[in-house]
Amino acid sequence: MTSVDDDARSAGDDDAVIFANATQVVTCAGPARARRGAEMADAGARQGVAVAVMRGLVAAVAPLAELRATYGVSREIDCRGGVLMPGLVDSHTHGVFGRARSDEQELRAAGLDYMEIARRGGGIHASVRDLRATDEEMLFTLARDRLARLAAFGTTTIEVKSGYGLSLDDELKMLRVIDRLRRDLPTRIVPTFLGAHEIPLEYRTSAMTRAAYIETVVNDMIPLVAKNGLARFADVFCETGVYTVDESRTILSAARRAGLLLKLHADELTSSGGAELAAALAATSADHLGAVSEAGIEVLARSSTVATLLPGTMLCLGKSTRAPARRLIESGVPVALATDFNPGTSPTPNLPLILTLGVSQLHMSASEAVIAATVNGAAALGIADHVGQIAPGFAADLALFDVQDLRDVPYWYGDNRCVATFVGGKPCHSSDLGLC
Ligand SMILES: [Zn+2]
Repeated sequence: MTSVDDDARSAGDDDAVIFANATQVVTCAGPARARRGAEMADAGARQGVAVAVMRGLVAAVAPLAELRATYGVSREIDCRGGVLMPGLVDSHTHGVFGRARSDEQELRAAGLDYMEIARRGGGIHASVRDLRATDEEMLFTLARDRLARLAAFGTTTIEVKSGYGLSLDDELKMLRVIDRLRRDLPTRIVPTFLGAHEIPLEYRTSAMTRAAYIETVVNDMIPLVAKNGLARFADVFCETGVYTVDESRTILSAARRAGLLLKLHADELTSSGGAELAAALAATSADHLGAVSEAGIEVLARSSTVATLLPGTMLCLGKSTRAPARRLIESGVPVALATDFNPGTSPTPNLPLILTLGVSQLHMSASEAVIAATVNGAAALGIADHVGQIAPGFAADLALFDVQDLRDVPYWYGDNRCVATFVGGKPCHSSDLGLC
């Protein structure tokens, strides 16, 4: 056995690659759909097994001797006693932006609220100004390097939203950057159109100009984005002071007519009926839900919508609000966890740290947190039929951690224990700590 890179890269399409000697293989195997309730408690951790990969797919999970007998002379990757998991799925990021906004963190620490920071030129509008002034090549370079950091923590699928352009040209510019990332990076990238992230400043002068911006989103942006295949999802920031439930419904209904799947930033800070709207529209996911109502939880439980929780934002903002993860899980709502990687409220690339917050702040078990960032993350992107499990027929998207038990992944918080990742069986990221 030699290095991760050499072995997997040199494997021909018809050769099997066997991932051997993991202390645990966390398979997350089961139904190819979002897991609910007690289903989330079982991450399918197995000992004494190895994983065979062929043509980019998981072929078998079985004892090593059995796989060697079945696949004959195959290449082996030595997992050196680590934990092999499905590659993590980060189903909510704003990964394309210009400059960082670390100055705002200090202002918040000094007691300034969101409105005061916005008055001083900060907040989302700062990123909009910046995005518009930054050329496409620079945005691509910045995003490529930042997304590589996400991958280094074990993430193999990343959803990336537009939403700092807020004009037809600038939203298309962002989506072109995301499309180039999708083609150029080894990581799976899922693009989302978020032209309704905010009302741009130049349209905030009256109710009429506000309506005019929404018309632009519906009549100009959505048809063009859909026609050019630049997004799989459309998303809206539905929140008191941003987009109302009615406006969100108008925009998402147009997106659905154009053939896009739906997501919604819902009930982040106030309970405004976002969860109810997401369920009514059969949105693929409703995200944030820090202030979701009891009624919202009940309708989500009866719907197909995944609740994507983003506890990193509350940590960054220093808020004590928590999404009611236990209440959601016990009500039968499938829960996903994601970073919300963005320059304002969650600049962390570290999805395992979000699992830590899932356990320590949202009172999830380690297995629930792992399911939330694999199978349920994939379900939040509509790809749970082929991503998120180590099971025959699924994409061989794998993350190897230098720990001995899946509970160690959220336990060593902030530390990067990810040794290597693979997408479709090919090396995506590998650190120089362990295997190479
Ligand atoms: Zn977001």
